[in-house]
Amino acid sequence: MSTRVAISRCNTYQFDEVKKSISEVISNSDFPIVKNKKVLVKPNILSDSKVETGITTNPVIIEAFIELLKELGANDIYLGDSPGLHTASFDAHNCGLKDVCQRTNTHWVDFTKDPIDHKIGKYLLPMANIINEVDVVISVSKFKTHQLMYATGCVKNMFGTIPGINKSGCHVKVPSRNGFAELIAEIYRESKCCYGLMDGVMGMEGPGPANGNIRKVGLILGSSDSYLTDSAQATIMGYRIEDIPILMAGKRKGYTHLEPNYPLLSANELIIKDYKRVAIGKEKAVPALIKSTLMKPFHNLLIKKRKTPEFLADKCILCKRCVDICPAKALHIENNLIILEKNLCVRCYCCHEMCPKNAIEINE
Ligand code: SF4
Ligand code: SF4
Repeated sequence: MSTRVAISRCNTYQFDEVKKSISEVISNSDFPIVKNKKVLVKPNILSDSKVETGITTNPVIIEAFIELLKELGANDIYLGDSPGLHTASFDAHNCGLKDVCQRTNTHWVDFTKDPIDHKIGKYLLPMANIINEVDVVISVSKFKTHQLMYATGCVKNMFGTIPGINKSGCHVKVPSRNGFAELIAEIYRESKCCYGLMDGVMGMEGPGPANGNIRKVGLILGSSDSYLTDSAQATIMGYRIEDIPILMAGKRKGYTHLEPNYPLLSANELIIKDYKRVAIGKEKAVPALIKSTLMKPFHNLLIKKRKTPEFLADKCILCKRCVDICPAKALHIENNLIILEKNLCVRCYCCHEMCPKNAIEINE
């Protein structure tokens, strides 16, 4: 198991600077052999937002990375993702990746086409067929906070291999933070991802992953152990690694040792003291291992301690995206207002992620 996490400075999305920085990162972090291989690059698209919102992996990062993959001899390169509300016509136009595919002759993959069921723990979940057809899978995530999981990156990015609306249903299957983190760890493993690259040139702070504020971080990170890429991110944001549920789930399951070493810049010397983090919930008082075993009967109580979302009528445009994504069917529209049935809500915050107008707040 690799321990190397490479972190390189990159202050702008200027193509040559980005390419040089990614090249430095992959040269120092046990990058997989891609020569004569079929490679899937999985960016974080989330909701196909415009580039300037900073929600999605920047297209310059993807284009520079694809160019490097070609220089390393990759045979066929595929690019794909599936937002929570995947429409039939989805082609990653807004986030700039459709153009990248055209410019670089990369194949765009529709994850909703003929997905294959995978046994993941006790669940049968559909996953994008392409992961069975390529030799190398690479996660290219975005440096962002996350309202439910605090900080997410390359590991959770592979949740996107579960097509469209099937993702939100997972929150009902495992509504607790730790339960969901363990499911993400299993999905990541099943995705066969073998490298995690992160776009940290511009990050997101505050209520991420979609409604936070853009903040310059000026870094690109990478490791063949995506948990280590994400642990470096969490450290730079100012979190304690033991507070990040997905990282601890990976460690409990033996998928990572979480013992990074830094051949280039060290995350410990890059901590941004005033980075606006999502506050750690009350669940942190119970050690993770106890939570995942002895505390199982109390998970529902822990969930109810989390805040329900608040809907701001003055910002809402009644687009109905929150209603459509809600896996618990806890939302409906009445008299031109979004109505939440609190007893049904599992506090997954999918509605918050999908809202295009910042009209949902989670005051945790
Ligand atoms: S997603 Fe946001 S803007 Fe759309 S209906 Fe829901 S609260 Fe309103
Ligand atoms: S209302 Fe929002 S937070 Fe509650 S279950 Fe639905 S999507 Fe999740």
